[in-house]
Amino acid sequence: MAELPDDWEMVVGLEVHTELATATKLFCGCANAFGGEPNTNVCPVCLGLPGSLPVLNEKAVELAIRIGLALHCQIAPSVFARKNYFYPDQPKDYQISQYDKPINGIGHLDLPDGTRVLVERAHMEEDTGKTTHLGGTGRIHGADESIVDYNRAGVPLVEIVSGPDIRSAEQARRYAAELRSILIATGASDGRMEEGSMRVDANVSVRRGPDAPFGTRCEIKNLNSLRSVQRAIDHEALRQVMLLEDGQAIVQETRHWDEDAGRTQTLRSKEEAYDYRYFPEPDLVPLAPSDEQIDAIRASLPAMPAERRRTLVALMGEQATESQADQIASVVDQGIDRYVIAAAAAGVAAPLALARVANELAGALSDGGHLDEDTMVVLLQMEEAGEVSATQSKAVLADLVADGGGDPRAVAKTKGFEQMDAGALDAVLDAVIAENRDAWQRYVEGDDKLTGFFTGKVMAATKGQADGKAVNAGLRQRRG
Ligand code: ADP
Ligand code: MG
Ligand code: ZN
Repeated sequence: MAELPDDWEMVVGLEVHTELATATKLFCGCANAFGGEPNTNVCPVCLGLPGSLPVLNEKAVELAIRIGLALHCQIAPSVFARKNYFYPDQPKDYQISQYDKPINGIGHLDLPDGTRVLVERAHMEEDTGKTTHLGGTGRIHGADESIVDYNRAGVPLVEIVSGPDIRSAEQARRYAAELRSILIATGASDGRMEEGSMRVDANVSVRRGPDAPFGTRCEIKNLNSLRSVQRAIDHEALRQVMLLEDGQAIVQETRHWDEDAGRTQTLRSKEEAYDYRYFPEPDLVPLAPSDEQIDAIRASLPAMPAERRRTLVALMGEQATESQADQIASVVDQGIDRYVIAAAAAGVAAPLALARVANELAGALSDGGHLDEDTMVVLLQMEEAGEVSATQSKAVLADLVADGGGDPRAVAKTKGFEQMDAGALDAVLDAVIAENRDAWQRYVEGDDKLTGFFTGKVMAATKGQADGKAVNAGLRQRRG
């Protein structure tokens, strides 16, 4: 992590756009789908053709409220407004957004380290289309031609605006990661940053220490990975410090992050900033969800990531190690913590369950496939009882997930994974030692590097059926 020189401190506030996981767009019946043939999910409403009228998508409102409740926001009566600006990806020449009366008011998000970040608002709006600039560098300047796809125009968004409470690029990345987990947990969004489902704008300023007034900020647009969030902010803060130390002033502007070059560039300055001329959308009525509606949505919210992490940490026994904490965060993020909970409830050692779920199961599921919790539990019990070795258990798991399920014992049997009894392992150990007298002598005298050599020989002799832990125990015992 880059450090700012001397007593400089950065101040960061994030604006996060998230696409809502609805079947249809915000104001029309067109499909809300990523990756379709360009300009196929369009109609007069989302193309802004004259005479068309918006009809609000109820599901989008429910998902927006889910996000608000998960972020402890005050849910309030809200008003849609027209935000006027001309850009080719915006067919109506205005965007329907919310302005002074957002659906979700003040709330907060707690980072895993306990830092509380204010959420200023989380309002609803529609997404724009997507322009692609051909020729030149891929940016509009110097392009030969620009083409536009309106499939995304009118897709429902919630924009979550944080307070200027973030003090490092690492913390900004953590905020974005936690927000992403929360969005996924609410079911409001799939959180896929690589598909643009979640996009981050970072406002960055610097000041001389925590008591100085806030400095002039720049806004970096459209960061589409957690890594970019962190790198862009680190870079931008350092750029500002160097300018200020050189006696220059920061000009408030919008900047673009160039991931390959690793730097930010001017996109537009404040002088060119739009005057959006907001006014209430005349074609939509104000939105006033009832208390009953809000309570029903609140009651339907599942446990949020922070609570689910705490549940798993408690299962680890005394204290979760740092690597277990990472595994816990990752399984919660992927929504596969339920396997660990099921295994622990069935008496499997929680650290073993966590390791297999965080590594092997997560990997297998991400390649496509499916597995029910009970099957995973049976396999873990087999491994724990020594019916299959760790290596064998991983191989059985890969097959089970690829096949979408099955009987772990039957799979182990077809793969020829028979349980190796202790007597058979003892015989193999003795034979391997007898065949490698010199190496064994050096091992006994303290050459620890030979552990791998002997383990490898035993594994080869048993065709990988020996349990690694039992082999190590047997070697240690014979070494004296
Ligand atoms: P705008 O309406 O121009 O977008 P806002 O006041 O709504 O401006 O702030 C937008 C974002 O900028 C918020 O996330 C806020 O926390 C952040 N922000 C405001 N002032 C600063 C500052 N001096 N340094 C860094 N971030 C800031
Ligand atoms: Mg803004
Ligand atoms: Zn449409």
